[in-house]
Amino acid sequence: MANPTSRHSRSRRDRRRANWKGAAPSLVRCPECGEFKIPHRVCTSCGTYNGRKVIEIVEKSEV
Ligand SMILES: [Zn+2]
Repeated sequence: MANPTSRHSRSRRDRRRANWKGAAPSLVRCPECGEFKIPHRVCTSCGTYNGRKVIEIVEKSEV
């Protein structure tokens, strides 16, 4: 049966647990408006994806 042969050291365990925070979110330039956007997501400033308008951007109106 698959069993661990030896126990990992405290150092190795702690190194593994120190790694959970991950990387900062990546941003790309929107090809339509040049604004920063999240890759593989619709642009939040012009509403296009893959050169096509997907959603209508409505200006937020304050009360
Ligand atoms: Zn855009």
